[in-house]
Amino acid sequence: MRLFLINVIGMDVYIDKPKCTGCHHCFDVCPVAVFEMRGRGTSGNPDADGANKDNAPDSMKWTGKSDDQIVQKWGNVKDGHNHFAEKSDGKSGGISVGVNGSSCILCQACLIECEGECIHIIDDTGTKYQSIYK
Ligand code: SF4
Ligand code: SF4
Repeated sequence: MRLFLINVIGMDVYIDKPKCTGCHHCFDVCPVAVFEMRGRGTSGNPDADGANKDNAPDSMKWTGKSDDQIVQKWGNVKDGHNHFAEKSDGKSGGISVGVNGSSCILCQACLIECEGECIHIIDDTGTKYQSIYK
């Protein structure tokens, strides 16, 4: 009898946290509730509200400091979003976390809506996708 080993990799979704503006677009468009908006924590504990509860690599974890280029691009944009706010007010603010990445159906809606171009998806074959703002 021959045995065939198949490397099964589950879907995963994580955020490059320093680039997240808190626009809520991902949270709003995802049909399967992959994302949750968490607070940006405190200076002593950036993860106090679970901002790092997805599988982002260390270089993409939230350490309390946003990416300078993203802040420059979005910090003063008046589009109704409370960019870079500490916490979500239900419409914007806080930081996105891919808490339910295994449910992703790869509809790609979040990938074209992400202001920070900071959503990373790895599908079940290992193929990587990254958001590009339309
Ligand atoms: S690609 Fe996945 S994470 Fe993004 S909106 Fe679609 S189901 Fe949600
Ligand atoms: S769409 Fe992108 S920038 Fe906006 S909250 Fe989601 S991850 Fe952050």
